[in-house]
Amino acid sequence: MPKILDGKKLSKIILEKYKKILDKRIEDKKQIPSLAVIQVGIDPASSVYIRHKEKACARVGIRFLGHRLAEDISEEELIKLIEDLNQLPDVSSILVQLPLPDHINTKKILEIIDPRKDADGFHRVNMGQLLIDAESRDYIPPCTPAGIMELLDYYEISISGKHCVVLGRSNIVGKPIAMMMLARNATVTICHSRTKNLAEITRQADIIVAAIGRPNFLIADMIREGVVLVDVGINRLDNGKLCGDIDFLDCEQKASAITPVPGGVGPMTIAGLIRNVITDY
Ligand code: NAP
Repeated sequence: MPKILDGKKLSKIILEKYKKILDKRIEDKKQIPSLAVIQVGIDPASSVYIRHKEKACARVGIRFLGHRLAEDISEEELIKLIEDLNQLPDVSSILVQLPLPDHINTKKILEIIDPRKDADGFHRVNMGQLLIDAESRDYIPPCTPAGIMELLDYYEISISGKHCVVLGRSNIVGKPIAMMMLARNATVTICHSRTKNLAEITRQADIIVAAIGRPNFLIADMIREGVVLVDVGINRLDNGKLCGDIDFLDCEQKASAITPVPGGVGPMTIAGLIRNVITDY
């Protein structure tokens, strides 16, 4: 049976550790870190993700400042709010929940956030530093890839010299996890929707990170014995259940380690967010 990479368990351990650190810091500095979360509209999935973030903040002692804005808010009004939050000294971190409605330019909005308050690590200053030196500590990393690295480290999965195949090239997962793996001396292949002979590539992988948003896409026939499988995908099936991009039941016999969905990468993303908020607040 493969090793289950239990993100739920690890995130609990990490959050407990952060709570202790924070209790001590608050005692010393008499200052409480805070996270401002902006939600535009009422996308149900976004509301669920925000509730998870709020719960984690409460658990470690971060002040959560929710801003719920109407779906039809103008881009200018949203920018004004972010600029105001940038200026407020008692707001240590800002997060704009994605996706934003179509009439708002997401790229422009992410650029408005002060990079030092960029809880998600999506600002180009943080992304640029990640590209230059992913191993350095002088930038805010995107939460999901940072959480994946922490999970692999906890379970002592070695990365150096391994062939890591990343499925998906999004700015929030695919590209940054590829850069983090590269910085840890993996040989990295990035696949996307135009990749030819994808199964031939995945069959050569020592580690696969799947982040494509296609339910149960990766099946046993596409992997080799002993591979480490990291499933980022969160897909809701017609029966209401959640599943990942990896067919867990089909692949688990061949894998040496695998993340479950739910309970794998998702909770590690939250742990990564909390770390971003409490670091240098
Ligand atoms: P995204 O922006 O939705 O992009 C999907 C990527 O997958 C694109 O690069 C796309 O290629 C590629 N792709 C789509 N179909 C493919 C196929 N059949 N074969 C190969 N590549 C394919 O990606 P994302 O935002 O990173 O999200 C991916 C999944 O992760 C979603 O299910 C999302 O909900 C989940 N997610 C989970 C967490 C978490 O905390 N667990 C965090 C973030 C995202 P092209 O670039 O060519 O279009």
